[in-house]
Amino acid sequence: MNRIAVFTSGGDAPGMNACVRAVVRTALLHNVEVYGIVRAYSGMISGDFIPLDFNSVSNIIQRGGTILKSARCEEFRTSEGRAKAAAQLKKFNIDGVVAIGGDGTFTGAQIFTKEHGIPFIGCPGTIDNDLFGTDNIIGYDSALNTVIEAVDKIRDTADAHDRLFFVEVMGRDAGFIALRSGIAVGADAVLIPETETFVDSLIERLKIGKAHHKTSSIIIVAEGDDGGGAYEVARKVKEQYNYYETKVTVLGHIQRGGSPSASDRVLASILGKAAVEALLKGKKNEMADVINRKVVFTSFTKAIKHHQQINKDLLNLAESLA
Ligand code: ATP
Repeated sequence: MNRIAVFTSGGDAPGMNACVRAVVRTALLHNVEVYGIVRAYSGMISGDFIPLDFNSVSNIIQRGGTILKSARCEEFRTSEGRAKAAAQLKKFNIDGVVAIGGDGTFTGAQIFTKEHGIPFIGCPGTIDNDLFGTDNIIGYDSALNTVIEAVDKIRDTADAHDRLFFVEVMGRDAGFIALRSGIAVGADAVLIPETETFVDSLIERLKIGKAHHKTSSIIIVAEGDDGGGAYEVARKVKEQYNYYETKVTVLGHIQRGGSPSASDRVLASILGKAAVEALLKGKKNEMADVINRKVVFTSFTKAIKHHQQINKDLLNLAESLA
């Protein structure tokens, strides 16, 4: 392999830059040239490729977002779009590709390799932590830290005014951010898409808290919760129980931004290196990850097909400590 490409795709996640850096530096150590593809599959189709040398990835390990930019690309879902992308990769003599992204990115990569033969290795990067076969995904830890920092501040004002706060966090289909951050901030309840939300039992819980002289409460709501999101759940609760002044905060895109945490930087560095070495060994259509402190590879087929399950023990923990 003489030349590889790297791109970041799907929702941006803190740590993607650290991963790009590791890919570039590892490849150069093996005398392999690297091109960055700008704006993911869109750039692959339009031929927006830039050469990356040692210095072009200097001073990015600490930066959120992605220097290669990210994009969603409908055209890549068509065989015509993928044929254009293949022609560009061939034009630039690319022998293998490292894709940093989520399940959509890997689905596209798998279809592409079947059609055009160019091997892809994936590094999981998405704040949602919803990929099967991973213990750790680049960006998840940083997003959790952002949520925790914000909720700690909200707690101060909640406490000062006897308020009940509903804090909405990201997670359209998965409650990983909500559950883990809920435990970390000591939330009174965590509402996630994986479990049904009962407003009556939530109110019961708040009443018990009040009986224990609690003067404020924090409820973490995943955006995809079946109760309808933080505003809707707050409205339903307020209709039946208005002991507290009720407030809603939607954290939104601040969860994506910011400097990556130490864990994400290290993980991204490990995975970027592992991905390049895997390509050099002839692997393809697999995702690198760290499980039990060891680098492992999971086939795209497995990673895409199955859903990461919510940890029931953590769910019980959140409930029992609230
Ligand atoms: P995140 O979890 O952060 O959303 P993701 O990788 O799952 O990341 P998607 O938007 O689902 O993000 O997918 C990224 C891109 O992958 C899409 O914009 C599209 O170009 C490509 N892609 C997704 N699914 C397919 C598919 N079935 N066929 C071809 N390409 C696909």
